[in-house]
Amino acid sequence: MNETTMPPRYDVAVVGAGPAGASAAINVKNRGRSVVLLAGQIPFSHISGPHLIANFAGFGETTGEELAAALGRHLSAVEVPVVTEKVTRIVRDGAGEPTDGFVLFAGDEIHRARSVVLATGVLLEGSIEGEEDLLGQGVSYCVTCDGRLFAGRRVVFISYGPPGEDEASELADAFGVEVTYLPQYEADYRLAAGVRVLAGSRPERLARVDGGVQVTLGGGRAGEPLVADAVFVSREAVAPTALLDGLETDGPHLVVDGRLQTTVPGVFAAGDCTGEPYQVAKAVGQGQVAALAAVRLLREQTEVVAGV
Ligand SMILES: Cc1cc2nc3c(=O)[nH]c(=O)nc-3n(C[C@H](O)[C@H](O)[C@H](O)COP(=O)(O)OP(=O)(O)OC[C@H]3O[C@@H](n4cnc5c(N)ncnc54)[C@H](O)[C@@H]3O)c2cc1C
Repeated sequence: MNETTMPPRYDVAVVGAGPAGASAAINVKNRGRSVVLLAGQIPFSHISGPHLIANFAGFGETTGEELAAALGRHLSAVEVPVVTEKVTRIVRDGAGEPTDGFVLFAGDEIHRARSVVLATGVLLEGSIEGEEDLLGQGVSYCVTCDGRLFAGRRVVFISYGPPGEDEASELADAFGVEVTYLPQYEADYRLAAGVRVLAGSRPERLARVDGGVQVTLGGGRAGEPLVADAVFVSREAVAPTALLDGLETDGPHLVVDGRLQTTVPGVFAAGDCTGEPYQVAKAVGQGQVAALAAVRLLREQTEVVAGV
């Protein structure tokens, strides 16, 4: 893709629509900067429940559902574009200079931004033993980024929800991949012809072996060997360290400085992904701090380029 066919570049891309991501996007927009909110397949998925929230100042007693609706109304009132796709990979744009920004892969689309705010919450499902060690060496989360690498080869596709059905079907249809689908949920699976479904078994361990990656199964097919050229994993969320190279973590949380900048310059983080307390008020506050820090960085970069 050359510069003329590249999508436009936003000032800030926010990843994750919870209280932190919504707050970050609204605050970027209020500063007159362009922003896109990459919200995952279900925006506000972690707060949209009937549970009572009684400690978010100014709201009295509210529910997760009401809070999600209020955040959604605010986003549309200030005209923040919301993309309902999960981000599966972020890489540096251009030559990788600090001012070149980032490319974010989400579904079939790519988005470009000069700066990024990660507001992905905490992972609800833990990773599979061996998964993180094999990242980029036989484990992938992104059909758009990595599907073609396995054209005509064998892939085990581990999926924690129905969105994985489209991704696995795309692997089979677009890249001629021989797909074994390992669903970790029950449904009427809607998959492309030729995709083999192995329901009722869970992946317990991933390991490199001669000939590819071995998935050790538990449950119905425990003990059966399952080896493929690669394993793709589809969950609601992707661990931030798998999204972007260079992020340091402390346990499940991203390491950030006082301005909520992560260990990757130009990438900020807010909300539960930065650590406890896991609370709405802290998430909203950090969303604002991260947004203002991102805007300030962009201003500083512009001043340097202009020689101010
Ligand atoms: C049952 C329950 C009750 C709670 N009660 C309270 C309470 O009373 N008071 C209180 O203050 N807090 C409460 N909390 C905690 C509060 O909901 C969280 O602290 C808050 O939602 C954190 O906001 P966040 O924006 O950081 O993350 P989240 O709300 O977790 O939002 C993150 C979003 O990012 C999405 N995402 C993740 N990865 C990606 C990706 N790669 N691409 C795109 N999107 C992605 C996720 O799917 C999710 O929708 C409660 C939580 C639960 C579960």
